[in-house]
Amino acid sequence: MRDVLPRFLDVEVKTSLLAILAVTSLLLLVAALRAIGAFLAIYLVQWVGNRVVLDIRKQAIDHLMHLSIGHYGQSRTGEVISRTMNDTEQLQFGAAAVLRDLVKQPFLLIFTLGYVFWEDWILALCSLVLFPTCLIPILIFGKRARGAARDRQERMADLMDILHESLYGIRVVKAFCGEEREANRFKAAAQSYFSAAMKARRAQSSVAPIVIFISAVGVCLALIYANQTGMAWNEFTAFLLALVLLYDPIKRLGKVHVDIQPILAGAERVFELLDTPIDVIDKPNATDMTQTPRDIVFERVCFQYGDSLVLKDIDLHVKAGEKIALVGASGSGKTTLVSLLLRFFDVTQGRLLMDGSDVRDYTMTSLRQHIGLVTQDTFLFNNTVAENIRYGNTDATQDEVEAAARLAHAHDFICEMETGYDTVIGEHGVRLSGGQKQRLAIARAILSDPAILVLDEATSALDTESERQVQLALDEATSGRTLFAIAHRLSTITHCDRILVMDEGRIVETGTHEELIAASSTYKRLHDLQFGIV
Ligand code: ADP
Repeated sequence: MRDVLPRFLDVEVKTSLLAILAVTSLLLLVAALRAIGAFLAIYLVQWVGNRVVLDIRKQAIDHLMHLSIGHYGQSRTGEVISRTMNDTEQLQFGAAAVLRDLVKQPFLLIFTLGYVFWEDWILALCSLVLFPTCLIPILIFGKRARGAARDRQERMADLMDILHESLYGIRVVKAFCGEEREANRFKAAAQSYFSAAMKARRAQSSVAPIVIFISAVGVCLALIYANQTGMAWNEFTAFLLALVLLYDPIKRLGKVHVDIQPILAGAERVFELLDTPIDVIDKPNATDMTQTPRDIVFERVCFQYGDSLVLKDIDLHVKAGEKIALVGASGSGKTTLVSLLLRFFDVTQGRLLMDGSDVRDYTMTSLRQHIGLVTQDTFLFNNTVAENIRYGNTDATQDEVEAAARLAHAHDFICEMETGYDTVIGEHGVRLSGGQKQRLAIARAILSDPAILVLDEATSALDTESERQVQLALDEATSGRTLFAIAHRLSTITHCDRILVMDEGRIVETGTHEELIAASSTYKRLHDLQFGIV
C-alpha cells in the first residue's frame, strides 16, 4: 500500500498537470485567436478607411488636373486643397469610428431584443415603450452634427486659404508690414474653426447621455411593473440585465448615426469637387494632331467669361513662321486670345482652326505638344535644373537639355552653380534672379520644340540687362516658329511681322511697326508715350 500510494499520487499529479497543460494551451490558443481577431478588427477597419481615402485622393488629383483654367480662376486654392486633403481625411476617421459598430451592433440588438421578449414580452414592451423617444435626440443631434461638421470643414478651408495666401505672398505681407494682420486673420479663422468643431462635438457627444437617461426611465417603468405583478427578484434581475444589454446597442447605433454625419458632410464636399464638370474636354472622336500646325485662323471668334463678352468678332489669319505681337491696354483680351490656342478655354462663338480643322477636333494633349508657353510669372518646380528644363520633354537627353539651355542663354549661369544641372531649384532650392528663371522657362519651351510659341509678357518683369539677355534667348527660341507675343514694352516687338492692337476685345489696328507708326494710330500714341516723345 505504501508503495502504491506514491505511484498513484504520481499518476494523479501527472494527470492533473496534463489537464492543466491542456487547459492552459487551449486558453493560450483562444487568447492568441482573440488577439489576432482584435488586431485584424482594428487593422482591417483602418485599412478600409485609408484605402477609401487613397482611392478618392487619386480620383481627386485626376479630376483637378483636368479641370479647366477657368475653374481655377473662380475657386480658392485653399478650398481645393482642403477638400482634397481634409475632407477625404474625415472619411477615414469616420469610417474607422463607425464601421465596426455598424456591423456588430445590429446583431447584438436583434439577439437581445429576442431574449427580452422571450423572457417576458409584457415587461419587454413596458420597458421598450420609451424606445421611440430615443430616436428624437438621435435624429435632432444627427442633423445638428451634419450642419456643424460642414461648417467646420468650411472653416478649415478658410484656414488653408489664409495660410496659403500669407505664405505665397510673404514678400508683399512683409513689405506692407502686414504680418500682424495676416496672423490675426489666421487666428480669427482658427477660432471659428474651433467653435464649429466644438459645436459638432457637442452634438455628437449629446446622444449617448440622453439615451442612457431614457434607458434609466425604462428600467424604472419595468421596476414598477415587476413590483405590481409580484415578479420574483432573481427573474427581475435577469431581465434587468438583458434590458441594460439591449439599450447598449441602441445607444451605440444612435452614436453611429450621429458620428456618420460628419463623414457624410465631408463626403458631400469631396463629391462636390469630384462632380465639378470639366468644361474643356476632348470630343469622343477627337484625333491626334500628328502634323506640325501651319495655318492658324480665328474665324469670327467670340469669347465670354460668364456674362462678360471679352473677345468680339476676332478674324485673324496667321501663317506658319509669322511673328505676331499683341499690344493694348490691360484687360483688352490679349491673354484670353492666346489662351484659346492652348484650349485653356474654348471659343464661345466662331471657330479657331489649325490647318483647316477646328482645334476642338484635336486631342488636347497632341495640340498642346505643338505649343510652347512662356509667361511673366515663371513657375519652376522643386526639382533639379535639368528636370525643370525637361518638363515638356521628359525623354530629352542631357545633351539636348544643355543645347536648349545654351540657346536660352542659360548654360553659363547654370554651370556656375555648385552642382550645375543637378542643382535643386524651386521652393527650397537656390535663389535665381527673375531673368535667370525666365531663361530656364525659355529653355523648357525650346526643348519641347513647339511649332508655335506663345510669350505672355515674358520680359515685362525684367530689368534692362536681364531683358537684353532674355531677348537674345527669345530671338533664338522663336526662329523658325510661329510666334504670338504679348508685350507691354513695345521695344521688344518692333521686329515682328505684324502687330495687332487690341481694345475692349477687338483687334482695332494691324500692321508692321513702321506702318503703324506712319499712320496716326493708337499704337503710335502708345509708342510715343513709352519713348517719351510727347
Ligand atoms: P489682357 O491680357 O489684355 O490684360 P485678359 O485677356 O487677361 O486681358 O482679360 C480680358 C478681360 O477678361 C478682362 O476684363 C478680365 O477682367 C477678364 N477676365 C480674364 N480672366 C478672367 C476669368 N478667369 N474670369 C472672368 N473674367 C476674366
